[in-house]
Amino acid sequence: MAKASSSFPASPKVARACLPRRGDDNLIGAMYLPDTIVAPATPPGQGAVAIVRLSGPRAIEILNRIWRPDHPGEILPRRLYLGDVVDPATDANLDRAMAVVMRAPESLTGEDVVELQCHGGAYLVRRIVAAAIAEGARMAEPGEFTRRAFLNGKIDLTEAEAIADLVAARSESAIAQALSHLSGALAEKIGRLREEIISIRAHLEAEIDFSDEDIRLPSRHELGGHIERLLGDVALLHESFARGKIMREGVRAAIIGKPNAGKSSILNLLLGSDRAIVTEIPGTTRDVIEDTIQAGRYPLVLLDTAGVRESRDEVERIGIERTLKSAADAGLIIAVFDSSLALSREDRDVIRISAGRAGVALLNKRDLPEVLTSAELRREGLEMPILEFSALTASGLPQLREELARAIETMAEPVAGEGLAVSRERHRDALERALLALRAARTSALDLMPPEIVAVDVAAAADALGAITGEVTGEDVLDAIFREFCIGK
Ligand code: GDP
Repeated sequence: MAKASSSFPASPKVARACLPRRGDDNLIGAMYLPDTIVAPATPPGQGAVAIVRLSGPRAIEILNRIWRPDHPGEILPRRLYLGDVVDPATDANLDRAMAVVMRAPESLTGEDVVELQCHGGAYLVRRIVAAAIAEGARMAEPGEFTRRAFLNGKIDLTEAEAIADLVAARSESAIAQALSHLSGALAEKIGRLREEIISIRAHLEAEIDFSDEDIRLPSRHELGGHIERLLGDVALLHESFARGKIMREGVRAAIIGKPNAGKSSILNLLLGSDRAIVTEIPGTTRDVIEDTIQAGRYPLVLLDTAGVRESRDEVERIGIERTLKSAADAGLIIAVFDSSLALSREDRDVIRISAGRAGVALLNKRDLPEVLTSAELRREGLEMPILEFSALTASGLPQLREELARAIETMAEPVAGEGLAVSRERHRDALERALLALRAARTSALDLMPPEIVAVDVAAAADALGAITGEVTGEDVLDAIFREFCIGK
């Protein structure tokens, strides 16, 4: 039921009539036929332990067919019991394994769930899964356990996505972001905004239904004001995408500079390995090389590009175009200058490409006699912080790491104190649709359009927000989301 917002109280009766229920206005629930699924929950290969997971109405029955506890008796939920895994077809022992049962609805998927902790052999796991399939289970599709958790109302879509993000996390910030969404904070926020929008819709419905009766309805001015406030909140969340994306995926930094300035050497230094080939022949880094490091709490994707230099050589020319493109796509620029050589036209190109961009400039090869100075770079219009550097001796490396971390920290600062951030294009696109619909609703409300017209845009805004949490969504969206999960998740 829609909670009435304090600033704009909705009549509960009207609000309830307008609230779509899950399974009501989409067919997901109706199309869903639960069978019992099985899959390894651990990656393929050898390990100390592997987990085979079952979910569905026959999970416990199948467990009883393929596993015999050492001490027969009642199997209590959420307790581990040791026993033998057997192949019922031959009665052959397959393994010794611990089993745990989680009964519906108090389980991951909301169905009966069984997990067998067996020895971590790839063949062994395949045999156990095959035995479960022979007893009537079906091999799970990628992400099917999580999908069932969603369909059974255990989690919403933002939480399902957070599970995928947590598994894929490669930095402190990505973990923090995934955990924040997994806690349901984003779903709650979206749900609150959606309820407010639905309460506006309820008022418009009341305008339609009770227009002749003597009940006090908010004026269009009040309605417009309320939509305005909601627009502000939705816009803030929409803006948070830039930060959420940084927390989840990090920032891309393009290392640019003329050939032989030391870009590949600096990349290697940052990576701590010989990832890029370093040579003395200008123009050898012809493709863009990518690798990820940690900069403070954030992932930093380093791009080493072909040198900025005009060239007749076709391959190198393509490389230069890529430099410009990767610099344009990157969030940060690491501009490299050779301090042992006089300023060249190519250096001026680098200064030009760096104008107005976040990043850091390195005056490299400071172990050699200085020809090019930071004062000269400033005179040429370089605005970025400049660090004296030597890729050969690694002097300046800690300062470079600090500068990069600081730059990302600035980019990831919360807007207007909003701590929550959406992190996926899917969220951002839905928020964009909600913004467009709310703007249209505001205009038609203030233009004193008939309530039916305003209600259409208000409903579209509510649906757009509902798509984020999965309240209103189609099979194709679910397929796309759960496809990125592995089998057994
Ligand atoms: P890139 O073309 O910009 O990627 O430059 P490289 O990293 O391939 O370096 C070109 C040449 O400069 C190589 O011979 C490096 O060893 C050398 N070099 C790179 N950085 C330094 C440095 O800080 N000092 C000195 N003396 N040589 C360097």
